[in-house]
Amino acid sequence: MATRKKRKYIFVVGGVMSGVGKGIASSSIGTVLKARGLNVTALKIDPYINVDAGTMNPTEHGEVFVLDDGDETDQDMGNYERFFNTTLSRVNYMTTGRVYLEVIRKERNLEYKGKNVEVVPDIPFEVIRRIEKATEKADADVTIIEIGGTIGEYQNIIFLEAARMMKSKNPQDVAFVMVSYLPIPSKVGEMKTKPTQYAARTLNGVGIQADIIIARSEVALDHKRKEKIALFCNIQPESVISAPDIDSIYDVPVNFERDNLGAILCKTLKIPSRPTNLSAWKSFVKKSKSPSKEVKIGVVGKYFDSGDFVLSDVYISVLEALKISAYHLGAKPVIDYINSKDFEGPQREKNLQKLKEYHGILVPGGFGSTGIEGKINAIQFAREKKIPYFGLCYGMQLLVIEYARNVARLKGAHTTEVDPKTKYPVIDIMEDQKKHMEKGSFGATMRLGAYPAHLKKETVARSAYNEEMISERHRHRYEVNPKYIPDITKAGLVFSGTSPDGRLMEIAELPERQHPFFLGTQFHPEFTARPLNPHPLFTRFLEAALKRIKPPIKIAGKVGGVKQNTIA
Ligand code: GLN
Repeated sequence: MATRKKRKYIFVVGGVMSGVGKGIASSSIGTVLKARGLNVTALKIDPYINVDAGTMNPTEHGEVFVLDDGDETDQDMGNYERFFNTTLSRVNYMTTGRVYLEVIRKERNLEYKGKNVEVVPDIPFEVIRRIEKATEKADADVTIIEIGGTIGEYQNIIFLEAARMMKSKNPQDVAFVMVSYLPIPSKVGEMKTKPTQYAARTLNGVGIQADIIIARSEVALDHKRKEKIALFCNIQPESVISAPDIDSIYDVPVNFERDNLGAILCKTLKIPSRPTNLSAWKSFVKKSKSPSKEVKIGVVGKYFDSGDFVLSDVYISVLEALKISAYHLGAKPVIDYINSKDFEGPQREKNLQKLKEYHGILVPGGFGSTGIEGKINAIQFAREKKIPYFGLCYGMQLLVIEYARNVARLKGAHTTEVDPKTKYPVIDIMEDQKKHMEKGSFGATMRLGAYPAHLKKETVARSAYNEEMISERHRHRYEVNPKYIPDITKAGLVFSGTSPDGRLMEIAELPERQHPFFLGTQFHPEFTARPLNPHPLFTRFLEAALKRIKPPIKIAGKVGGVKQNTIA
């Protein structure tokens, strides 16, 4: 009889403050363990009541990352998929809303058999059941569970309680990693450990002792501080891992390995030592550090500002997909976020001219009417000036609108999302979406997740993928209106990717002889670009962009910079 596999669990929690890279730390821990031949999976826990991330405004939440099975999740799920080069599913994602919904459903179905159902222990039990389910599904040796938020918050307490229960039941199989932050106040000029000490004690207060502390800071930790944290937080100095700010998130697994984090975790969890092979990852990182040219991409969108701050998080997968393909092509990506409103109003012409400085222009996904005419104007400019253009989801729909208006002579063509009364609704709501809208049922009702598409012979899409059938992830309610396909194709636009039954237009493009790259996808290719597996369309777009460089520019400075750019 086969013995049951020993499952190991690593909980990653945040101390001191949020936003210091718990997701990247969790992803990097997984990467160094995977390099040991271990089967690793990960779960993200978001403590909010929302059942998923789909109903939240991007300026509130950042990117909504869509999985193959259509689950609308957090951007950390994208990090796990990119770092582990794996495909996750809805069992890997959990929110407070999701947990309570299930407990209440069970209660209504008498599944608790008349028992009094309590927040403790029934909610943590459901959390544990979900963690175990994801582990079984992946047949994982190690499951990494990232608990969102920071220690000391009321919100995530129930998840910490679940983690504590798991540890008390199987002490050898559960480890805790606390990702902390060590500030260097400018007036003091010294790195302070006290907030980390408080965070470790707050964690002790809920019955949990950290095994490892990842010390995020502006600079590397010195030995003195490692000893101090070790002494006051009950751990060994070698279990304090220095994690200074770095230019590229993809360096983190390499740094962790250098600090022996993988070996320390294996020792903590009593996993027999194994040879490590991080070579594929390292060669990707090496490539990213030796670019021979610079490629400048303008991302034209909205959702950029929150008060005085810039939210680059909203398009995180787009950014990573661009970076990944650029690195593979030996280029340093310079990505500017440009507010589409710059291409509306009196300054429009002047600002459009500045787009010539870019090697490529990209319009990402979006919703609603803000900045739409600006985006359409930018797309028209890219088409007419033959600047490579890549449109994702809304960016594809707007490409179709631009072409319909300006080439197919359907004056005033629009999407009914913005103008329900347009004379030429070239983009219209999908038939099966109407019922959701009538009922006001917005949660998880878009066309979501992976669907197959067929690629037409002798097209840019087909040659980029080098495949006839593809599968890509979607998140939309509107589509190219079949009624206008004959007019639009007659005017020269090619629908090179369609649903297998030919009904839904999945890719629109101009032939290569007419334009170096003018292509839009109804799906979101950015969700499946991975460091060890760049996305063929992003690569093709950047190849076209790189052809605009002559002669090659000599470059210096940091790799992959992103800046907000109001070119007005
Ligand atoms: N708003 C468009 C739709 O719902 C595009 C969605 C998107 O870009 N994700 O179809």
